[in-house]
Amino acid sequence: GSRLGIVGGGQLARMIALSAAELAISSHIFTPEPHCPAGDVAAQVTQAEYDDEVALAAFADSVDIITYEFENVPAKTAALLASRRPLHPNSDALETTQDRLLEKEFIAGLNLPVASFHAIDTIEDLSHGVQILGSPCILKTRRFGYDGKGQIKIEANDGLNRAFDEMSGAPAILEAYIPFTREISVVAARNAVGEFCAFDICENVHRDHILQFTYVPANIQNKTAEIAISAARKIADALQYVGVIAVEMFVTSDGSGERIIINEIAPRVHNSAHWTIDGANTSQFQQHVRAICGLPLGSVARRGTIEMENIVGDATQRWLDFLGEPNTHLHLYGKRETRPGRKMGHVTRVR
Ligand code: ATP
Ligand code: MG
Ligand code: MG
Repeated sequence: GSRLGIVGGGQLARMIALSAAELAISSHIFTPEPHCPAGDVAAQVTQAEYDDEVALAAFADSVDIITYEFENVPAKTAALLASRRPLHPNSDALETTQDRLLEKEFIAGLNLPVASFHAIDTIEDLSHGVQILGSPCILKTRRFGYDGKGQIKIEANDGLNRAFDEMSGAPAILEAYIPFTREISVVAARNAVGEFCAFDICENVHRDHILQFTYVPANIQNKTAEIAISAARKIADALQYVGVIAVEMFVTSDGSGERIIINEIAPRVHNSAHWTIDGANTSQFQQHVRAICGLPLGSVARRGTIEMENIVGDATQRWLDFLGEPNTHLHLYGKRETRPGRKMGHVTRVR
């Protein structure tokens, strides 16, 4: 009966807590949100703000190990938690991945390919950056972006003032636009003794910047898959990472073959590997719990050809249809309010 603390109460925390329960590990959620998806399935919930030091300390002291479901855990919060209990993944992984500039510098520093980038603090930086990188290019806030929020594509050398204003003064990064043929993700686990184990590579299709479909296996060459997995391993090793990590990549192809370019790192379980609940011998959630609790990693063998579809926004009428389809596994997150663009659940088809 060990106890796992999870920072954040969304669907990722919910699915981690469900997996932990299978191993008789009970979960304590820390979240500012009332009625969070993870709250329904956890043994305990603390609803408090991330700067509430008293609540954080009590939360930490009530558990054996702490993890998180999102990369925007404030540095001070992470430091306080890590001073009391083992925090996995470690705060280095958090700091590096919650800032797109640090993240890109880190990846480039490992001699792995990233889109050319330029730090943007002023409008002069932006016009200079667009000159260097050419257009199209993409302006992104360095911090707090997800599902494409806080990004704007720059098509030409005009409209720069408007694009800059969209960032509302937040530090930003300008990236070269990558004309990719596919998007993939490597989702893998690394444990404290450095064992590393990757799920089969996911091919991801986004709609309005939100993940819509994942297909496994990805339609890429074996050689490309090997290169992608070894890049993810190099990243995990460099961070001395413990837990499940996701590395999002672009695949480009021209006459000379396929190339990968790393887009971003998620220091957590990842939407593109939700299929592993029904389609792999060990789910990414259970693998994460195993890795952070010092248990042996599980088999990542795949059980068929996979299609995962996110249920985004109001799709209640489709739920019953999904329940009627053989080989289709429906997962609902228990969110009380439906909003356009909000991830309400997902389905996995295994064939
Ligand atoms: P997530 O929800 O995955 O955290 P995010 O808001 O952090 O998303 P990114 O992953 O950086 O944003 O970008 C979202 C999507 O926008 C990418 O999956 C890709 O489709 C597109 N995109 C981002 N950067 C580039 C780029 N440099 N070139 C081409 N397309 C890009
Ligand atoms: Mg992101
Ligand atoms: Mg992304």
